[in-house]
Amino acid sequence: MSSFYITTAIDYVNGKPHLGHAYEKVGTDVLARWRRLMGDDVFYLTGTDEHGSKVEKTAAAAGMDPQSYVDSLVPAFEGAWTALNISHDRFIRTTDADHAATAIALLERIRDNGYLTEKKYEGWYCDGCEAFKTDKDLVEGKCPDHPTMDPRWIEETNLFFKLSEFGDRLLAHYDANPEFVTPAFRRNEVLSLIRAGLLDVSISRSRESVGWGIGIPFRPDSVLYVWFEALINYLTGAGYGQDDATFANRWPAVHVLGKDVTRFHCVLWPAMLMAADIELPSRIFAHGWVLTGGEKMSKSSGVGVEPVAMAERYGADPVRFYLVMEVPWGKDGEFTWERFETAYTAFLANGIGNLLSRSVSMAIKYFGHVPEGPVDRHLFDLCERVVSEATDAYDALRITEGAQAAWAIVRECNEQIQARAPWVMAKDPEQREALASFLYALLESLRIAAALLTPVMPSKCAELQDALGCAGDRDRTGADLLAWGGLQVGGELTKPSPLFPRLDQLLAD
Ligand SMILES: [Zn+2]
Repeated sequence: MSSFYITTAIDYVNGKPHLGHAYEKVGTDVLARWRRLMGDDVFYLTGTDEHGSKVEKTAAAAGMDPQSYVDSLVPAFEGAWTALNISHDRFIRTTDADHAATAIALLERIRDNGYLTEKKYEGWYCDGCEAFKTDKDLVEGKCPDHPTMDPRWIEETNLFFKLSEFGDRLLAHYDANPEFVTPAFRRNEVLSLIRAGLLDVSISRSRESVGWGIGIPFRPDSVLYVWFEALINYLTGAGYGQDDATFANRWPAVHVLGKDVTRFHCVLWPAMLMAADIELPSRIFAHGWVLTGGEKMSKSSGVGVEPVAMAERYGADPVRFYLVMEVPWGKDGEFTWERFETAYTAFLANGIGNLLSRSVSMAIKYFGHVPEGPVDRHLFDLCERVVSEATDAYDALRITEGAQAAWAIVRECNEQIQARAPWVMAKDPEQREALASFLYALLESLRIAAALLTPVMPSKCAELQDALGCAGDRDRTGADLLAWGGLQVGGELTKPSPLFPRLDQLLAD
């Protein structure tokens, strides 16, 4: 069984999770579920980033100690991922004890390899980004991402990571591994950053300026810089420094993260791993943003699109479906309630829901069970092509393309029903065999579509499998699941209650 270790970025705990947070978890969940479906030994890691001066200050303003403050916020994140049916194997918190141990183990390895140095740091620090800023980064003296905050001038003697020594090695790795960072336009952005020259990075903060962080044993007056420390969660989740057998099996990772944090994940992180002689991640995928009114979803603009409330109102699967199909993975996409409800009605209620209901009803009415007939070449060929396209796309981390490829089955089956009018065929005894052949093909195409869409809509696809009498598909893994002929002739069919009730019915309750 091959191992597949996939991670999301960890969320900085700050208020409640919104749809922008959910987007990354759902997309990564689709990939994790796809690999499980294909038979891999999957480990999916997500969690929260809990240290740093911003948390410390917000906690103080709320009259709380930082640990109690983060403890009070984390349940909303875990609860949201439960509500959206996210199948993560561990929810990691950077305040977990094993993470502190791993972070220090990695730091000491980097130190022993000669990649730490001490320097005086003078410069601007944005508490919003938890990052040092050069004059070039600031616009009229403010961080462009945090225009309401004043950057602080900091002068400290800090530990520095010698990032400047890794430019050539990073470029060589990118050259040898064209798929290391995708989409390709993100890779090109990162390459320009590296070619522009890398500066050493301050990785410690004095306890005077930041108290809330992981203490450095060989430098008792300092804590680890939050970004440097947070990245190490990916090693903690793989058992680095704690459990060698697990680490050997699980690592390297596939990282999924937002386009705003590529600088850390695609430059700093690989250099840190090189400095510690650890294999680099196999893939890094940078997704775009869910926009509302053209703006990035944020703490303020995300109000009203809270994942838990949405899942309670519409079910988890329609929310997952929208994020995967309508916010193209790798680019930005818009969320509006109008678009969400339009997609629900067009694709779910009238699309796949109606297809299931019509196909099963007709098969029961005309044959009583799954009918037998010669293979319908048209739908057979379609499914064969779709399975190949969707598999290639999912394997390449392109989930929107994978799901859209699968959707071609739903669309074409509905069109074929209109074109061939099985209710007319049913009146002609000479067309009995053709009718059986067509209805079998519809049901079998739906079975294949359900398997391909299970990573996106796990609950609804399970209901669909029940109606088709192929609940056993849930326990099957591997590419055979997607081969034509899985549905047993003579098998029992169940007339389903509407898979996706119309919105006026759904929201009336
Ligand atoms: Zn900032």
